[in-house]
Amino acid sequence: MTSEDQSIAAGGQAPLGFEKHNHERCVDHALSSVEARCADKGLRLTPVRRKVLELLLQEHRALGAYAILDLLREAGFGSQPPVAYRALDFLSEHGFVHKIERLNAFVACAHPGESHSPAFMICRLCDAVAEAQSTPAKGVLGEAARAAGFQIEKTVVEAEGVCPACSDKASA
Ligand SMILES: [Zn+2]
Ligand SMILES: [Zn+2]
Ligand SMILES: [Zn+2]
Repeated sequence: MTSEDQSIAAGGQAPLGFEKHNHERCVDHALSSVEARCADKGLRLTPVRRKVLELLLQEHRALGAYAILDLLREAGFGSQPPVAYRALDFLSEHGFVHKIERLNAFVACAHPGESHSPAFMICRLCDAVAEAQSTPAKGVLGEAARAAGFQIEKTVVEAEGVCPACSDKASA
């Protein structure tokens, strides 16, 4: 393992999203930890905010604001774009969802409530997204920053590639 690999794998948590898992439990768990976090911090998880989070949790896939808006409409939230945008702002501000710059889309956080720098693996064939933790301060970039006297406040780590499901399909 190189030091760069270690910086991505650190945190003791397997990346969530690609491997088979009990998805129903994963959605329940994510929703209840966000609810607990909101209760703790006195944040209001309004019905539309909760619904947007739920939509993003349905599949471990990034959704753009317009797709979210369509799904909200289907779910009976006769929404105007600002409603979806405000809900997304709220959710990303508090770390419950992350924006994937590469796709201009959003994913639900795999471990809401913990402060972390996410690193994403994005499948270029199906847009599935898995989130791992990165600790940039410990990696090669961190060393370079220290040498330059630079303080890193935020990093965006987005790796593009092929997820296990798609590589199975390709080789079948
Ligand atoms: Zn899941
Ligand atoms: Zn996260
Ligand atoms: Zn894929």
